[in-house]
Amino acid sequence: MSSRSINFTFHGIGPQERFLEPGEGTVWVSTERFRSVLDAVKGRSDVRITFDDGNRSDVEIALPALLERGMTATFFVVAGRLGSDAFLTAEDLRALAAAGMRIGSHGMHHRPWREADLQEEVVTAKAVLEDALGQPITEAACPFGSYDRRVLKALKRAGYARVYTSDRGSAAPGEWLQARTSITEAGDVRSLMDPSAPSLRRRAELAAKRWR
Ligand SMILES: [Zn+2]
Repeated sequence: MSSRSINFTFHGIGPQERFLEPGEGTVWVSTERFRSVLDAVKGRSDVRITFDDGNRSDVEIALPALLERGMTATFFVVAGRLGSDAFLTAEDLRALAAAGMRIGSHGMHHRPWREADLQEEVVTAKAVLEDALGQPITEAACPFGSYDRRVLKALKRAGYARVYTSDRGSAAPGEWLQARTSITEAGDVRSLMDPSAPSLRRRAELAAKRWR
């Protein structure tokens, strides 16, 4: 059993129901791609699945596919978008949690945290999501993979038990800061789980770089 784990990040899946942000198309994947990655990952206790941005596809496409395969995942939701068109509602959060999924914070307005008001992004967003979910929020994922010492300090002070970045590569399962790799439409996902295939892995990393 490996002492390192791999964290994968999905974003939107399937038909695009809104205008995407610049770069977001790079990480929006088809339903077929999503399902094939889940099948490749199934049974790998060293691979963890996460979802960013709180798109409606989290409940409409991801949740049933995860349940069919007996898998769980963590969903990082943008608090300020709750209930907006094409995004999750408070009720969706509770449905995800009731189905055994974890909910985390992806901030208030989907801004790079290095340049953001951290009281709003780190503290207020957590409270808004806790209110919607009716349970504590203990994990966060940095939008655009943006963080620095000030951001990490604010996250620690706000009481997050685990923070996910987009730094790619493997992570030590118990560590507070967890690197993740974004899944794109192309590329062999098995190579992303295999540290002995750096060239393929590097190519997928570069493709995912613009949207993290
Ligand atoms: Zn995001």
